[in-house]
Amino acid sequence: MLLDYRLRQRDFLLEISRAITAQLDLSEVLRRVLQASLAMLAGQIGVILLRDAAGAYHIQAVVGVEAAKLELLTTRITDFLRRAALLSAAEAEAQLAAIAADIDPRMKQNFALPLIFAGDSQGVLLVFRNYSIPATPDDLLVLGSFADQAAIAVHNAQLYERIDHERRRLSAILQYSADGVLILDGDRRITGVNAAFERLSGWSAADAIGRDHDAVITFQRLEGGDLNAGLAAGVFDALAADGAVNTLYVEGDLMRRDGVPVSVGIRYAPLFTADGGLTTIIANLRDITNFRQAQEMQNVFISMISHELKTPVAIIKGNAATLAREDADWDAATVRAVADVIEDESDRLAMLIENLLMTSKMQAQRRLDLMIEDVSLPLLASRAIERFASQTQQHTLAHDFPPDFPVVPGDPQRLRQVFDNLISNAIKYSPNGGVIRIDGAYDDHWVTVRVRDQGIGMSNSEREHVFERFYRADSSLSRRTQGTGLGLYLTKAIVEAHGGWVEVDSAPGRGSTFAFTLPRG
Ligand code: ADP
Repeated sequence: MLLDYRLRQRDFLLEISRAITAQLDLSEVLRRVLQASLAMLAGQIGVILLRDAAGAYHIQAVVGVEAAKLELLTTRITDFLRRAALLSAAEAEAQLAAIAADIDPRMKQNFALPLIFAGDSQGVLLVFRNYSIPATPDDLLVLGSFADQAAIAVHNAQLYERIDHERRRLSAILQYSADGVLILDGDRRITGVNAAFERLSGWSAADAIGRDHDAVITFQRLEGGDLNAGLAAGVFDALAADGAVNTLYVEGDLMRRDGVPVSVGIRYAPLFTADGGLTTIIANLRDITNFRQAQEMQNVFISMISHELKTPVAIIKGNAATLAREDADWDAATVRAVADVIEDESDRLAMLIENLLMTSKMQAQRRLDLMIEDVSLPLLASRAIERFASQTQQHTLAHDFPPDFPVVPGDPQRLRQVFDNLISNAIKYSPNGGVIRIDGAYDDHWVTVRVRDQGIGMSNSEREHVFERFYRADSSLSRRTQGTGLGLYLTKAIVEAHGGWVEVDSAPGRGSTFAFTLPRG
């Protein structure tokens, strides 16, 4: 009989440890612990309560309590546990007995065991039974071991939950990262990719996973070495100066799956096992197209600006030096001609600086401030013509506005800039001279000004881009003529800030007509 009982105890223990190791579902483990405890003590009611992080107790497993009594049980026991530390053993025993009797009056004896793991109280295991005989020390020992097992199970489950949470957090970071992420095994086979990688490379996860790194990551152009070169050079073998693992940066134009190249920077980082074996390489891909373009634009801009600024300064300086020569005695006509050149070049310089300042201001403020007043466009046109007429002998500048052309609300300073840019372009891009006409027209709501030249004109594809910042058509003429590619960009910005729009009509060799339309009110 005793042997039989011992065997059963052993079976319970075995069953519980199996439950703990076999699965990590906490409620299932607790249910089995509870059932084994009840079976061993021949109890009728069993409850396991766990403490949450805030110290409050919650029922996690229960056997033998009517649903209607569950709430009562929870409040009574929680209340009891809150005060338990202050009670003597006898008081605790008595209070527990009272609770048991409230739940089911037939209950005669109770057992309460704390669940403790590594010194931390995690909860309590309660068993009530309908008869009372003193429990053998052996019973209590086994029950204690059940409680320990339950405590281990709770701890495992909490660990598992934490790991699972961490895993889900990492996978969300990975999945929603704006950078492409590629995970490789130690043999450089792809084991995972994120959504950004799919977008960037054109490879779907399903197609990429399982393939070799080199089958998916191919470059049309490389800045330096690639992953293979890095591995061959042993980048991951040495630790960085600060003791961290070394990473490898590769930059170039990646061939997307559809054959379109895209500028990327890839950072490869290795993961090692405890004994130093390379198990995983994480590659982080960033689309650097915008960065590249900005860099290129900056380079072009700086060389262009320095050239653009130097030329008029050199001309001004040369002419001023001519006038200043002590050995020369210039006649009045020569002095005037030289002074005219100086004045024209100063105007050009001023226009260029004005354009530059306005562009950077617009970039910074993302808008254009206007000082609106009544503006006579015919007056602005004739003044502009006066300014430019002296700069060219080859061109005839003429304007034609209806006599009753209305004044419009506008910023005269900025609209003057529009005329200057359009007229100076008309002169620059008609190297063989010709007529430059400025016409005005209006209706009830709008006024339109056209600047027409007989110059080199432009192709359809050039027409699409002329209003872009820094754009200059790639003709031999525009390469020879000075320009920053800002004039039309600013012209468009100014006109649009007035609530209007610009248009261009042109064909190669047939001259160009730029028109801008402004609202009358
Ligand atoms: P840029 O300083 O180069 O003149 P713009 O923004 O004023 O810059 O003009 C952009 C480009 O548009 C020019 O480089 C030129 O190729 C083209 N373009 C502008 N105006 C004309 C025109 N009247 N005839 C032909 N091409 C023009």
